[in-house]
Amino acid sequence: MSGSVTVVSGPTAVGKGTLVAELARRFPEVWVSVSATTRAPRPGEVDGVHYQFVDDAAFDRLVAEGGLLEWARVHGDTRYGTPRAPVEEAVARGRQVILEIDLQGARQVRASYPQARFVFIAPPDRQALLDRLRQRGTETPEQIARRLRTAEEELRCADEFDHVVVNDVLSQTVEELVDLLGLGHPGRPS
Ligand code: 5GP
Repeated sequence: MSGSVTVVSGPTAVGKGTLVAELARRFPEVWVSVSATTRAPRPGEVDGVHYQFVDDAAFDRLVAEGGLLEWARVHGDTRYGTPRAPVEEAVARGRQVILEIDLQGARQVRASYPQARFVFIAPPDRQALLDRLRQRGTETPEQIARRLRTAEEELRCADEFDHVVVNDVLSQTVEELVDLLGLGHPGRPS
C-alpha cells in the first residue's frame, strides 16, 4: 500500500499549523513532515518536533547531499526545507503525508511530485491576517511587515492550488480538510 502527499500552503499566521496539528491528532494515518530550518526556535518550540533547527552549515550539507525534497528562503534569509527520506518512508508505509510549506516549496513539489494534492489556506480577509500576526506577538514590527508582504504575494497565487480553503471558523475548516483528504474514518478519542 502506498500513501499520499498533501501540500498545505498559505500566508503566515493563517492558522495552517493549528489545522494540520488537529488533523494529526484526530487521524492516526496522517503524518506531518518536520521541516529543517535555519530560523531560531520560538519560545515553546521543540527541536525535532516543530522543526529540526539547524545552522547554515548543516542546511548547506542537506542541500548538497540531495537530502531535501524541496527548500526555499522564506521571509528574507531564513531557509526551510523538507527532509526527503522520512517523507518517502511515510508514503511507502501508506501514511497520508502533509507538508506545510510555502508557495516556492509547493511549486517545487508540483514539479517533482505532481501526483501530490495542493491545498491553499486563505484568511477570511487581510485584516484578520494582520490581527492574527500581531496577536502572536513573536515578531518585531519589521518582521511583521516583511511577513505581510510575503503574504500578499502568496495570496495572489492561490489559484495555482487545486483547492482554496478559507480559514474563518477553525472547526469548519478542519471538517473541509477532512473531506478533501478523504479522512472519513472515526478519529482517535482525545
Ligand atoms: P514559521 O517561521 O512561521 O514557522 O514559517 C514560516 C513559513 O515557512 C511558513 O509559510 C511555512 O509554511 C514555511 N515553511 C515551513 N517549513 C517549510 C519547508 O520545509 N519548506 C518550505 N518551502 N517552506 C516551509
